[in-house]
Amino acid sequence: MTDPLKRIAILGSTGSIGTQTLEVIRNQKDTFSVEVLTSFNNAALLAKQVREFSPNVVVIGDESKLDMLRRELSSLPVKIFAGEEALSQVVQMNEIDIVLTALVGYAGLKPTLSAIRAGKHIALANKETLVVAGELVTGLARKHSVNIYPVDSEHSAIFQCMAGEWNNPIEKIYLTASGGPFRGKDRNFLSSVKKEQALKHPNWDMGAKITVDSATLMNKGLEMIEARWLFGLRPEQIDVIVHPQSIVHSLVQYEDGSLKAQMGLPDMKLPIQYALGYPKRLKNSFTRFDFLKYPSLTFEKADTDTFRNLVLATEALQKGGNLPCIINAANEVAVEAFLKDQTGFLQMSDIIEYCMMKIPWMEHPTYDDYVETDRETRKLAASRLSSFRPVSVT
Ligand code: NAD
Ligand code: MG
Repeated sequence: MTDPLKRIAILGSTGSIGTQTLEVIRNQKDTFSVEVLTSFNNAALLAKQVREFSPNVVVIGDESKLDMLRRELSSLPVKIFAGEEALSQVVQMNEIDIVLTALVGYAGLKPTLSAIRAGKHIALANKETLVVAGELVTGLARKHSVNIYPVDSEHSAIFQCMAGEWNNPIEKIYLTASGGPFRGKDRNFLSSVKKEQALKHPNWDMGAKITVDSATLMNKGLEMIEARWLFGLRPEQIDVIVHPQSIVHSLVQYEDGSLKAQMGLPDMKLPIQYALGYPKRLKNSFTRFDFLKYPSLTFEKADTDTFRNLVLATEALQKGGNLPCIINAANEVAVEAFLKDQTGFLQMSDIIEYCMMKIPWMEHPTYDDYVETDRETRKLAASRLSSFRPVSVT
């Protein structure tokens, strides 16, 4: 007897992870069906995806695009909604088995909580959700017997290394980092880099926000916090090692000293497919690894003197409470400004550090406290930003 189709909702289907998820599903039509697709404002691509995958529901975040989407899809039986609130409602639909969260930033928190409350399993790409409110989200998932499957490649690697080891405690994990486009550069060089340089990642093709986070190493800092909550680890059990080839996706060390690593070409389709297909490994024809093209895999220490975001995120990991929420909000404001050429590369860390010092720390925040912390931090980061003189870029 064949298994029933797993019915998927994709939040952020028009982005880098969203489109790669649809590529996976296109090749696994006997395993998955698409129930919900959403985009913030890319109505044209969303309409094209609807024609191919026939979901029951679509949501467009930007309400001004609703009429256009309705016109585009007028001949199809799909239900169309708009606005932020609609996201949190549609994820509760009976017809959904798994919600894949591929939207960017803090916006992922509310719909994820809503999906968990409705008992939907989560395939989590949106790491910011766990950074902001990891304790709350994982606690709620336990209460509703919901699984959170990692999509982030490092966390998928850790999860794959844990298979068959559920009763063996982890001693520590190593998250691998490519080092980004500025590995080996000094602060003098970084003082004048522009977004065009930061957006050229050596190994991965991703959305703009995470690409800048990879260049500043904030991405690895956020991933340390994400790992803490996903795997129930203490901060001192989480380490980062730079591995420029991005072939070893991360490692787990057990109490006998043995290390397990998960390896493969840098291709997000694999962790996406593992999260959706778990516990099955589905057959596919993705490009296979060729050892002779990678005669050496190398490892080095992260340069925390140059890339201060990693130090700031480690402090947030250790101190906990609302501090990770503070660094996330300040970072979102800083990265958006950097992408608009409104601040320099190094100033991004200054803004984050300033907010960490000024926003009151809370040990056990409630959901409302996180909302307030996020709002206050964004306000403070924006005012700090405007107090900087325009950066001169050579
Ligand atoms: P992206 O910018 O390419 O796509 C984001 C998607 O979310 C788009 O469909 C966009 O329309 C939608 N969206 C953006 N803001 C929204 C909002 N406020 N409300 C509703 N929808 C919104 O981003 P991405 O690179 O696909 O990353 C998505 C998430 O996955 C991020 O949290 C990122 O850290 C994580 N992630 C991405 C990769 C990768 O390879 N791209 C790898 C690991 C983790
Ligand atoms: Mg990652």
